[in-house]
Amino acid sequence: MERDSIQYKTEEEIELLRESSLLVGKTLAEVAKILKPGVSTKTLDELAETFIRDNGAVPGFKGYGGFPATLCISINDEVVHGIPGDRLIQDGDVVSIDCGTLKNGFYGDSAYTFAVGNVREEVRLLLQRTKDSLYLGIEQAVAGKRVGDIGYAVQSYCEKFGYGIVRDLVGHGVGKNLHEKPEVPNFGRRGTGAKLREGMVIAIEPMVTLGDYNIKQDADGWTIRTIDGLPAAHFEHDIAIRHGKAEVLSTFSYIEEVLKKQ
Ligand code: MG
Ligand code: MG
Repeated sequence: MERDSIQYKTEEEIELLRESSLLVGKTLAEVAKILKPGVSTKTLDELAETFIRDNGAVPGFKGYGGFPATLCISINDEVVHGIPGDRLIQDGDVVSIDCGTLKNGFYGDSAYTFAVGNVREEVRLLLQRTKDSLYLGIEQAVAGKRVGDIGYAVQSYCEKFGYGIVRDLVGHGVGKNLHEKPEVPNFGRRGTGAKLREGMVIAIEPMVTLGDYNIKQDADGWTIRTIDGLPAAHFEHDIAIRHGKAEVLSTFSYIEEVLKKQ
């Protein structure tokens, strides 16, 4: 389903992408309100699907490649693509929630990792620094730079702390398709890779592990987890490439307003 050439967007299309991306942030904020020990991941998923449909959109992941749910919920050593179900959130969990929406023909795609209750300090730091690395990557996402500049920024920051950068999964262009060119790895060399130009919209999504970066897939065909069993974090924003400064189309502000009150 990945388009084989970069799809450049008009300003009108970027506005539609912004609308879808903002809806993801609002959806994740609704989920954050009920994300507590004892809630099932299926309950979170149902809330998200209802909220998205009530806002005139459809879940972007449900049915995509056969994925069965609205949210990817990945807990602790799960990195991405966890399937919601009967599992109950527990105190001390770190919960990555990735959400996609499709509205007016354009996708939004954003993810946030939540610390539930008493999370170990070293894991809290992993979350904070993974989010920091996303913003360092975003700083590089300007016209004239290259995809490798983004990956270098994320990787060089995270590796200072001894973290692993997942290699097998990467960010991507986003638009009428959930996954478009170019691929946006979270590792790389400066000045290499696809050139960034105005009209490109990309999802940057560092997936960072407390230990080794090697991952495996569960027998469910979806859930990706670390082989060493150590926790992972994942944050994702959708970005419009501009001259001078990247424009973040998605937002964590609704989520963080909810978290501040808890
Ligand atoms: Mg995503
Ligand atoms: Mg993505």
